[in-house]
Amino acid sequence: MNDEKPVLIVGGGIAGLCAAIALCRQGFEVELVEIRPTWNIPGVGIIQQSNVVREMARLGVLDAYLRAGFAFDDVALYDERGVQTVRMPGRRLAGPDYPANIGISRQALHRVLYEAATGLGARIRLGATVAECDERDDGVNVHFTDGIRANYALVIGADGIYSKIRGLLFQDRYQPVYTGQAVWRYNFPRRAEIDHLAVFSGPRGNAGLVPISEDLMYLFLTSCEGPGPHIDKSRLTVQMRDHLGEFGGVVGELADQITDNSKVVCRPLETVFVDENWFRGRLVLIGDAAHATTPHLGQGAGMAIEDAIVLSEELAGDGSLNTRLERFMARRFERCRFISEGSVLAGEREMAGDRSFDRAALTTRMQLVTAQPI
Ligand SMILES: Cc1cc2nc3c(=O)[nH]c(=O)nc-3n(C[C@H](O)[C@H](O)[C@H](O)COP(=O)(O)OP(=O)(O)OC[C@H]3O[C@@H](n4cnc5c(N)ncnc54)[C@H](O)[C@@H]3O)c2cc1C
Repeated sequence: MNDEKPVLIVGGGIAGLCAAIALCRQGFEVELVEIRPTWNIPGVGIIQQSNVVREMARLGVLDAYLRAGFAFDDVALYDERGVQTVRMPGRRLAGPDYPANIGISRQALHRVLYEAATGLGARIRLGATVAECDERDDGVNVHFTDGIRANYALVIGADGIYSKIRGLLFQDRYQPVYTGQAVWRYNFPRRAEIDHLAVFSGPRGNAGLVPISEDLMYLFLTSCEGPGPHIDKSRLTVQMRDHLGEFGGVVGELADQITDNSKVVCRPLETVFVDENWFRGRLVLIGDAAHATTPHLGQGAGMAIEDAIVLSEELAGDGSLNTRLERFMARRFERCRFISEGSVLAGEREMAGDRSFDRAALTTRMQLVTAQPI
C-alpha cells in the first residue's frame, strides 16, 4: 500500500463514518464521498449492544455517543400478552462505569460520528460518487460523477446493501435477496418502565420497544409479507395496527396510538453476504456492502463498526496491501457470517411460526461471540 496517498471511502453511513474516524486516528489522510446531496438520515433508531459500546470507546467517541442516546443494561423477552419470560443482564464490556447497551436515534448517531470524523480532518463531499475506477500499480485513479479526478492508495466501499463498489468487484454475482419479512417502526414518548430492550414474541412476528432518549422510545415489529411485500403507503397505520392485533400488554395499548401514516417507517428485509474475500487489488468492502443481514440480532451496524476499526488497524500494520487486507478478512469473515446466518435463521423461524425455536439461546450465543475481542 502506498501510505502517502489518501484513502477514499465511498458512503457516509455508519460504516463509512466509523472508517473515517478510525483511519484518521491511525494517521491516514481520508476523503469520503456520499451520494446523497444532503444528510437526510433514513430510519428511526438503532440498538447498539455491548460490543459496540466497547468499540465506541476505542473510536474515542463514547462520551458524546452516550450523551446522544439512552444507556441501559438488560434485554427482556416477553410473550404476546406482555408477560416477561426471560431477563438477560447485559455485560459491561467497555468497563464497569459504562452501560452494556445503548438505544440511539439514527440522526443522533450520525451527528456524533460526522462531528468526530470531520473534527479529525476527514474531508467529506456530498452529492457525488465514483463513476469509474482505474487501478494502477501505485494507486487507483478515480473519476467522480461531479467531474473531479484523483488518485488514492485504496478505495473502501461502505456504500450499503446496493453497493456500487461491490458491483465493480463482483459484477452482479451478489444481489440483495428479499427474505419475506418487513420491519415496521413508530416513535412514542418513552414510558418509564421501558428502561431496557423489551422484545415480545408474537405468533406471526416479533415486536419490541427500544428506549432512545429520556423522552423517546420506538416500537418495532417484524411481519411476514409473503413473496412480495404488500405495503400500501396510504394504509400504513391500518396495516401496522393490524399486524399488532395479536399483542396484549403494553404493545397492545400502544397499537391504538398509531394514527399518523407519515410517522410509520416500513422496510422490506433484504440480505446479501459476499462469500469470498471482500477485496481485490485496491478495492475493499465493509459493512452492509459486504454482509447486510436482518435486524433480528440487532448487530448489523455493530458488525459494520467493527469492520471499520479492524480495517484501520490492519491497514496501519506491516506488509503489502494484499497481506494487510488478508489479515482484515481473517479477523472479520466468520464473525460476520455467524451474525448474518443467525439473524436470517431467527427470521425464518418467525415466518414458520416455530414456537419451539429457542430465541433466548441464540441471543445468548450472539452475546458470547460478540463479547470476544475483535
Ligand atoms: C429495519 C432495520 C433495523 C435495523 N436495526 C439495527 C439495530 O438495531 N442494530 C444494528 O446494529 N443494526 C441494525 N440494522 C442494520 C444496520 O442498519 C446496518 O447494518 C447499517 O446501517 C450498515 O451501515 P453501512 O454504513 O454499511 O450501510 P448504510 O447504512 O446503508 O450506509 C451506506 C451509505 O452509503 C451511501 N451510498 C450508497 N450508495 C452510494 C454510492 N454509490 N456512492 C456514495 N455513497 C453511497 C448511502 O447513501 C449511505 O449513506 C438494522 C437494519 C434494518 C433494515
